[in-house]
Parts: sequence; C-alpha cells; structure tokens
Amino acid sequence: MSRHFDTYHPAGYRPPAGSWASSDAIRKTMLACGSRNTRPEVRLRSLLHRRGLRFRVHLPPVNSVRRTADLAFTHWRLAVLVDGCFWHGCSEHFVLPATNGAYWSAKIEGNRVRDRATDAAFRRAGWTVLRVWEHTPVEDACQKVQAALAELRSTEASASVRERRGTLRTGLGLPVTAAVSGHRATNTGG
Ligand SMILES: [Zn+2]
Repeated sequence: MSRHFDTYHPAGYRPPAGSWASSDAIRKTMLACGSRNTRPEVRLRSLLHRRGLRFRVHLPPVNSVRRTADLAFTHWRLAVLVDGCFWHGCSEHFVLPATNGAYWSAKIEGNRVRDRATDAAFRRAGWTVLRVWEHTPVEDACQKVQAALAELRSTEASASVRERRGTLRTGLGLPVTAAVSGHRATNTGG
C-alpha cells in the first residue's frame, strides 16, 4: 500500500488543507483506486445527486481520446473533470518536491499539456468542458456545474426558438408570436 501511495505523491509533498489527500488514512484508501473516485469528486457527485441532477460517471466522451470525464451530462454534452492540485499543477498548491525536481517539473508540465489536448478533443466532439480544482469547496463546484448546465439549456432553448421562427417565416407565414407560443420546447433533461 505505501509503495503504491509513494508512486502517487512524491516524498515531502504537502496536500492542501482540507483536501481529500490531507489525511493519511483517506490518502491510502483513495489512492488504492488510482485517480478515480477521489474524495472531492465523490462529494461533488453526491451533492449534485441530492440536487436532482443525473449524470454518467467516468464516461469517455470521445472514443479516440483515452481520457474520461469524471462526470458526464450526456444530453447537454457537459464533461466535468475534478483536477488534483498536485497532478494538474494548481498554481496555489503545487509545490515542486525537494528531490528530483526536474523529473517532477517535466511530469506535471506533461500532464498540463495533456489536459489541454483532452479539452480540445472533447470540444471538437461538441462537448463543453468544465474543470474544477480539488481545492474548490464542494458547494462552489456544484454551483459551477449548475451554472454551466443553465447556460447550455438557455443556448439550446434560444437556438430552437430561432429555428422555429425561421421555419415558420419561410414555411407557414404565421405570426411569430402565435407560432412560438403554440410550440413548447421539449427536452428530456440531462
Ligand atoms: Zn489547489
């Protein structure tokens, strides 16, 4: 267990206070699962669930990319990734380990480059990407997810109204207001 743990965080690394990695017991349990199901991710998932939101977990939105979204709202094509402060190089909490500095520096930089490539691949496939830091309080993270969903909903609603107006102008020639109020936007939620 401890060998496995050491491969995840270098000697001397101090995780941010209050983070999932700040307790040795939690670290050991969580790290046994690799980078999945980290404590902030699980807490975010349960809070979103309590608020009635439904989503897929660890879904690869893009088949050609070997990365998964920690949370995926498939209807809205919203991918949420919870980034660990050490592994993703958080500007507030990442501290270069005292030993093997060059190795860790290159390693974390490589992760950051890969994160940007992942975001780009998800976006090319039509997904919106939302990254939240491990250190973000769960309420704030939940708020960010809800705000992103609200924006996607309003974008879809206005797009479908525009589409209907366009159809009606060129097709039926009915007054726009009557036509729009006679049609209700339908969506099945995310
Ligand atoms: Zn951080």
